[in-house]
Amino acid sequence: MAASLQLNARSFTPHHVQSKSSPKIAPKFSSIRCSATTPVRRYTITLLPGDGIGPEVITVAKNVLQLAGSLEGFEFGFKEMPVGGAALDLTGVPLPEETLLAAKQSDAILLGAIGGYKWDTNEKHLKPETGLLQLREALKVFANLRPASVLPQLVDASTLKKEVAEGVDLMVVRELTGGIYFGKPRGFSINENGEEIGFNTEVYATYEIDRIARIAFETARKRRGKLCSVDKANVLEASMLWRKRVTTIASEYPDVELTHMYVDNAAMQLVRNPKQFDTIVTNNIFGDILSDEASMITGSIGMLPSASLGELGPGLFEPIHGSAPDIAGQDKANPLATILSAAMLLKYGLGEEKAARRIETAVLDTLNRGFRTGDIYSEGNKLVGCQEIGQEVVKSIDPKVPIAI
Ligand code: NAD
Repeated sequence: MAASLQLNARSFTPHHVQSKSSPKIAPKFSSIRCSATTPVRRYTITLLPGDGIGPEVITVAKNVLQLAGSLEGFEFGFKEMPVGGAALDLTGVPLPEETLLAAKQSDAILLGAIGGYKWDTNEKHLKPETGLLQLREALKVFANLRPASVLPQLVDASTLKKEVAEGVDLMVVRELTGGIYFGKPRGFSINENGEEIGFNTEVYATYEIDRIARIAFETARKRRGKLCSVDKANVLEASMLWRKRVTTIASEYPDVELTHMYVDNAAMQLVRNPKQFDTIVTNNIFGDILSDEASMITGSIGMLPSASLGELGPGLFEPIHGSAPDIAGQDKANPLATILSAAMLLKYGLGEEKAARRIETAVLDTLNRGFRTGDIYSEGNKLVGCQEIGQEVVKSIDPKVPIAI
């Protein structure tokens, strides 16, 4: 019932509360006003740059966010906190308490990326990735929205034929906190033949399916009104319940057309005819795989944003790419996925749709003007680095406003 609220109408009143104990990690505060107008709304954003290219893309996205906000009459207070490998080096854990507290007390969280060779051999609880999983779990962000659109300017970057890729515009809504990644029992054991076995449990409760289904129906309603639910209901009991509940929830959304598809077919259809999809809703593991597959249709991982939302509390917004250690520190990263994640933060996290549109339009304008980072470069365009393309996006937002970099 309140799904539209869950998606869009987060309170405009920041709900940060001061910590009673003084934090061991001092957050880096910054706030820059970019326009002469008096801001009437103020949001607290926790920035989690993380590792590798994370700090590079977050710096650029922060500037874009600030300008778009100031032009729409609001301002941000940013708190920068460590997560992942950076936090391990600093505190010995991948998600320090102070980082989690700041995240919970903010209006939205923008994350860069985590991980790197340095921590690859760490035990599981000391891996950077564990910090991210802990953060998602603690924030109870159960819905992961991953759009995949083939922009006309980048259609040649797709691995699919132009006529197949052209015009693709889909959204994968992935359940993020349940299913086989979290289900119990799990672990290692010895079977009756004395062999070692590893096992996991795919499990979903009704409420988990209902709430993700509502988010997906709401999302489809705001798009082209088509929802495809992907499962493996011909084999898995958890999928049988999934299909039953999604079909039940559909009666609340008579304006949305619901179809069902088995996951193996969905994987094929995504490369055969991706244009048939508008919104896809699926469980945690199928969503993990299908959203990566969908991302490849668009050509570059450096272009794709994501939003993770819960029922209450701040949403987590991040590019889908990793920390790209191979290009970290070289000003080669494409920051557009993070900039577009900032646009999702405005739209889904703060309900500031106009500011979000400013950013999306500016990204298209920057591409139209021929600016490209290495991952999306093609002949005839201008090859630029992470910072420069960020500055071009800032210019595209409103050329009359001084650049705040
Ligand atoms: P990756 O996404 O970091 O990199 C894959 C390839 O894409 C690399 O060649 C990289 O240079 C390129 N790439 C990625 N983002 C780019 C960008 N913005 N601009 C230009 N090129 C870009 O994936 P990986 O190499 O499998 O993983 C590297 C590390 O990142 C690992 O430690 C992994 O665990 C971690 N990781 C983190 C996240 C996350 O933070 N959400 C997601 C995936 C992987």
